[in-house]
Amino acid sequence: MLHGVAAAPGIAIARAQLVSHATLEVAHYDIAPEQVTAEQARFDAAIATVRAEFEALHERMKGADAPAEFGAFLDVHWMILTDPQLSKDPKRTIAEQLCNAEWAITQKMNELVEQFSHFDDPYLRERADDVVQVVERIVKALMGKPSDLPRQSGEHATALVAHDLSPADAIHFKDAAFAAFVTDVGGATAHTAIVARSLGIPAVVALHHARSLIREAEALIVDGDNGLVIVNPDRHVLAEYELKRSTQHLERQKLRRLLATRAVTLDGSEVELNANIELPGDVASCIEHGADGVGLFRSEFLFLHRNDLPGEDEQFEAYRAVADALPGRPVTIRTFDLGADKRMVGLGDRPSDNPALGLRAIRLCLAEPKLFLTQLRAILRASAFGRLRILIPMLATAFEVRQALAFIERAKAELREQHIAHDNDIPVGGMIEVPAAALALNFFLDQLDFLSIGTNDLIQYTLAIDRTDAAVAHMYDPLHPAVLRLIAQVIRSANKASMPVAVCGEMAGELRLTRLLLGFGLRNFSMHPAQLLGIKQRILTSSVTDCEAAAARILRSDDPERIRVALARLNTQ
Ligand code: PEP
Ligand code: MG
Repeated sequence: MLHGVAAAPGIAIARAQLVSHATLEVAHYDIAPEQVTAEQARFDAAIATVRAEFEALHERMKGADAPAEFGAFLDVHWMILTDPQLSKDPKRTIAEQLCNAEWAITQKMNELVEQFSHFDDPYLRERADDVVQVVERIVKALMGKPSDLPRQSGEHATALVAHDLSPADAIHFKDAAFAAFVTDVGGATAHTAIVARSLGIPAVVALHHARSLIREAEALIVDGDNGLVIVNPDRHVLAEYELKRSTQHLERQKLRRLLATRAVTLDGSEVELNANIELPGDVASCIEHGADGVGLFRSEFLFLHRNDLPGEDEQFEAYRAVADALPGRPVTIRTFDLGADKRMVGLGDRPSDNPALGLRAIRLCLAEPKLFLTQLRAILRASAFGRLRILIPMLATAFEVRQALAFIERAKAELREQHIAHDNDIPVGGMIEVPAAALALNFFLDQLDFLSIGTNDLIQYTLAIDRTDAAVAHMYDPLHPAVLRLIAQVIRSANKASMPVAVCGEMAGELRLTRLLLGFGLRNFSMHPAQLLGIKQRILTSSVTDCEAAAARILRSDDPERIRVALARLNTQ
């Protein structure tokens, strides 16, 4: 039994599929001089196989949900594959050193990675990862293993086991139906885990050595509720988890009855339930789970892994697609939150020792006016087709608010001049996710139309806990009194000023926190679509009066244990 951090709820029973580390397992053996030609031919055949794989992938990406980013990503890999250093040099090594093809190509890879590591330019340094990924494919082709991302076959479910996955890797999951995923590193609110949650598949992260302890095709139980992975379970454990899984399935089915029910508490308070999305295709899930609208569209996910600036028309199409799919419902588009763990090749990847404290989100957008204006124009153009709202991430200072609003006015003026339709009164909101903004809220209340509390970052910045760092994941605590007070204070002040306020961080989708947030006065929650009905059910069985009394008690306490006990009591009322 392996213990990690629960990153996405649910139970999966599946076979392990280890994510490629073929290059770590390459054997070295000598070949006879007369075998050289055959070995070189084997190498050529592997290159041809990978070429064919890339061509097939290229075809598959056409018309897929996020074609642009993968197209650019594939182009880089294609260039690496066809570079003579990889496609020709190893053949010379085979002849000179009389070694096997796998060994020859991995030697070349190590040499290239070493060279790349000396580049000053972070973009070029990162290309070392691409070289490794291409070589992985070649080595797998040599070993006769399929190297594409596996898809869940009809026969048995597959759990992806990896050392680490970037948010861009995770977005691939949207296309390949895995039953679960587990990783050695990461935190529960890192963007990789957020994507897993949005897919509604169980995930456990920060397992430390799962990748080396689990073998290919081993049977796994992934318990995303408790952060456990059980390897090769015995009959009794398996039966127990099968029962748990089918009970969960039944409960989910039952929840579907609430689809058309309005979210109202026992004492009559109405609550708005919105969805968080990463790609336009996610709106299908919003509709399926009865979301009132989109509370957070993490627009930057459209363009991760690209090395060019996304064009205005392309963005306009993406935003308009969401607006079209949800007529009359609010669609909140967050402007690019690039930087930290979401790096955009060439833009969000400036060297920084502390990227989460660096040029991220609105800071990056203000430093890159072309990027920001292009996005604002695209959102404004799409606003002629639906109820769009603009949300600015990571605001910390009055200056940033003023600057962001000035950019929006400039984009509107440009469109007016060009006679391009847009909503001149588009609501502009700010994310409250830096403690400075929460503490100096009045300025934000005066300047903006709505607020959305990003609890993921608010916790990270209040507690000084990197949300992606497995070493401190156990200290990432939404119930820390400082965090709770900041959240309660923002909600109270916003309500007093009649300013709409939502929570769009992961806390909004946590069942055990729903009543506490209701008690703080929250009436607008935004979460992964898959969490909506569960939260609705909790709201339907809650009394605001009881929640308020418990919330007030919890806010007075500095003792984490007392807070936990009071919360547990509130949840069993
Ligand atoms: C947050 O910080 O809570 C948030 C919703 O934004 P993200 O998770 O994308 O940083
Ligand atoms: Mg955030």
